[in-house]
Amino acid sequence: MKSTLDKFDILIKGGRIIDGTGSPSFKADIAINGEYIFQIGALNVENPEHVIDATNHVIAPGFIDVHTHDDRLLLSNPEVTPKLSQGVTTVVVGNCGASLSPWTSNFPPPPPLDLIIPMENNSYRFPTFSSYAIALENKPASVNSLSLIGHSTLRCGAVKDLERPASVQEIKKMKQLLRESLISGAGGFSTGLFYKPNKPAPPSEVEALASELKAFKAVYSTHMRNEADKLLDSLDETFETAKLAGCPVVISHHKCQGKDNWGKSKVSLKRIENAHKHQQISFDVYPYVAGSTVLLEEMISQSYKIIVTWSKSVPEAKGRELTDIANEWDVSLEEAMRNLQPGGGIYFSMKDEDVERILSHPLAMIGSDGIPHDEHPHPRLWGTFPRVLGYYTREKKLFDLETAVHKMTGIPSKNFNLHKRGTLKDGSFADIVIFDPDTIRDCASFENPTETSDGVNTVIVNGTIAWSNGTGTGSRTGHLLKNEFCNKN
Ligand code: ZN
Repeated sequence: MKSTLDKFDILIKGGRIIDGTGSPSFKADIAINGEYIFQIGALNVENPEHVIDATNHVIAPGFIDVHTHDDRLLLSNPEVTPKLSQGVTTVVVGNCGASLSPWTSNFPPPPPLDLIIPMENNSYRFPTFSSYAIALENKPASVNSLSLIGHSTLRCGAVKDLERPASVQEIKKMKQLLRESLISGAGGFSTGLFYKPNKPAPPSEVEALASELKAFKAVYSTHMRNEADKLLDSLDETFETAKLAGCPVVISHHKCQGKDNWGKSKVSLKRIENAHKHQQISFDVYPYVAGSTVLLEEMISQSYKIIVTWSKSVPEAKGRELTDIANEWDVSLEEAMRNLQPGGGIYFSMKDEDVERILSHPLAMIGSDGIPHDEHPHPRLWGTFPRVLGYYTREKKLFDLETAVHKMTGIPSKNFNLHKRGTLKDGSFADIVIFDPDTIRDCASFENPTETSDGVNTVIVNGTIAWSNGTGTGSRTGHLLKNEFCNKN
């Protein structure tokens, strides 16, 4: 017996629902009213204003990209096309210790902050998180966002000499900046302990800051000190810091970097599992064997390829292999890199077996780690989610579609405390993606990194159609999401 509704804004009919909880899919219709899902079931509506035929398609919660550097992109390209086109409806920004706000320094941003904060002009400078939040609320993006506050960003504003640990006074100042940000709604705190501006911070400095999170039920995310030879030590440091600070922790882009460390994911995942018995731990991963960041000499290796993503001093180097450039110049790889600085690179430093093992783990969430302002970016920026659904789910059969969607929706929503998002049920926010499970695939490659994916039919953000038949609708209905404390107050 079909129920009839008389009032609704959008009806999605005939699709297969994967609700984000990991449960098996089922056939049903979805009615949307305003920003919310009104009802899920066998529905019939007279005079439908907007009916979307989802026959042979999957209807899933909009994907949550838990690891992004989209802080500035939300303002500079509010359509957020690289993400929206993949079915992403929420991005977590400010990862790896680098957030756009609160930026209180007068100096040019050191790497890797130059990936998101423009170096030359003084635009996109937000001395407080609330000034960033206001900018975003005045000029909303097409997708929702949750902001982490980066430790490197805080250190640049508060620590006189970035090459040493912060003093008691400096820690006090950073804690105050972080607390103000959390009061204004920031969703957590991130570190990039691998990077120069953050590396000199000892665990005690991180813990002092992370201890601010508890009262806000906010999250600590970490690009750990080491993802190569000292991967396991870094995991132990992460568990200990989060335990002492009393906050949940997300290990960023979990990987085993460099040939000598391939295969270590067997051990690292066991360690995470063991720690997970005693504290709240999760991790994100992107579906590629290559990573990407700024140009770093310590990441040069004879055992893998490096592609230049941008170079300030030699702009025409973008998209080229470092070895080719070094040969052409008749210099060492190190010297070639020095001549290209500042710049970015793609490092083919991982092994497929590790990537697959990490992706398959039940605690794994999908995070793109896309770098949106690179001139020749890593394809993960445009391809991550369709690649997991197409290549890793349909073709390699690493897991079923319900599990894949769960890693992109239900698990992230739980770990980041996203209220009424990440699963499809009556009364949830209508963040929805409709895709064809037989054709969805990533088209962005290392050669052509900004190709739009195939198979994503419709994306709905807070009840409004934001992407339809291969193009953005120009809607700007994304919300700035806030931590649980702010939602209650
Ligand atoms: Zn990172």
